[in-house]
Amino acid sequence: MPGFEDVNYYFRKAARIMDLSAHVERMLMTPFREVKVDVSITLDNGELGTFIGYRVQHDNSRGPMKGGLRYHPTVDMDEAQGLASLMTWKTAVVNLPFGGAKGGIAVDPASLTPREQERLTRRFVQQIHDIIGPQRDIPAPDVNTNAQVMAWIMDEYSRIHGFSPAVVTGKPVDLFGSKGREEATGRGVVMALEEHLKDAGLGEVRGKTFAVQGFGNVGSWTSRFLHEGGARVVAASDSRGGVHNAEGLDVPALLAHVRATRWIEGFAGGAPLTNEALLLLDVDVLVPAALGGVITEANAAEVRAGIVLEAANAPTTPRADEILHDRGVTVLPDIYVNAGGVTVSYFEWAQNIQQFSWEEERITAELARHMREAYGTLARVASERKVSFRTAAFIVAIGRVGRATVLRGV
Ligand code: NAD
Repeated sequence: MPGFEDVNYYFRKAARIMDLSAHVERMLMTPFREVKVDVSITLDNGELGTFIGYRVQHDNSRGPMKGGLRYHPTVDMDEAQGLASLMTWKTAVVNLPFGGAKGGIAVDPASLTPREQERLTRRFVQQIHDIIGPQRDIPAPDVNTNAQVMAWIMDEYSRIHGFSPAVVTGKPVDLFGSKGREEATGRGVVMALEEHLKDAGLGEVRGKTFAVQGFGNVGSWTSRFLHEGGARVVAASDSRGGVHNAEGLDVPALLAHVRATRWIEGFAGGAPLTNEALLLLDVDVLVPAALGGVITEANAAEVRAGIVLEAANAPTTPRADEILHDRGVTVLPDIYVNAGGVTVSYFEWAQNIQQFSWEEERITAELARHMREAYGTLARVASERKVSFRTAAFIVAIGRVGRATVLRGV
């Protein structure tokens, strides 16, 4: 699993180019607040279930802190620190008035019943309610959390603090959620790629081949938009394994299969494929859209895709990033590529605060504007400084967060 040190590696690389002093560097890297709480619940069988919850709030110089909540056995403080700081840089890259946070509970939610998941979520809110809030820290869905979990968070927080839909984003559309939020990250991933293809003179998505690792919210929506755009998604996978079809998968049929059976396993439209093999397929674009740390020193030399489109957070380790760079593989970095989710979360928060809802066309158009403007800035910095897109993204983000910090005064 990627941790805080991995994110800080990229941070330091950019900070060195920017000539930041050691003091400023340390100040910008250090999280604002870290919280670790007991989340014990009574299980349906009457026994006690004990779990640990985490929330790391990294930086609030540009606004309230924002970031996902993940329910996964690997969640720990180090992972939350790393992902919280990524959120600080991500919100700055797409120029949202937010800082970064992240957290979750170390649990395999598949081992809990829906009623247990609800109790766990409400208990977690009881433990952290005084440090979150519409103007403090606004959680959102991440791995294994969804709109229902966000609805429970909104309800529990509102019981304590009064009606507060803006405390959390990614809510169901029927409960103060935003149109377009569920698909926002996948939509943004494809917009990011389209900006790059246009800029680099590489044509369009149509006709290009893709391998997508992870078929949850981000992977499935990305696959759907790619398929609709005329691309050939030749492989897709989930935690149990994947499926491969060189002619291109029938993505709508795969989505229907996963809706019906929960897993890709057993899909008749292709041959079984392991997650390890998926990463090494000879495709135009590799899309890691599951967990972090999957492209490593051990497999980076064998990645055959020309572009790695980082839909997941921190899918590439620092050493792998160097190997890919040396081999001429273009890596479009997570802090830009998957920022569509937090961007539409920002629109949801703004709508909740205004008590005014936007139509989907407006959301898609505003999202496209943020993704386009951010790409323009990254591409300019990457070419002026002769650095990778990732380093350019960190330079832009550190500049924005650093200026806000200095203007506010320490
Ligand atoms: P999700 O829980 O909806 O889906 C995760 C998918 O990854 C599932 O298909 C799961 O089976 C698969 N998976 C889990 N472990 C795997 C493994 N070892 N190998 C292969 N596949 C595996 O989660 P999501 O919301 O789609 O998030 C995916 C990634 O995108 C995460 O890195 C998350 O931090 C990032 N992200 C999500 C959002 C968002 O809006 N949901 C926004 C930005 C970034």
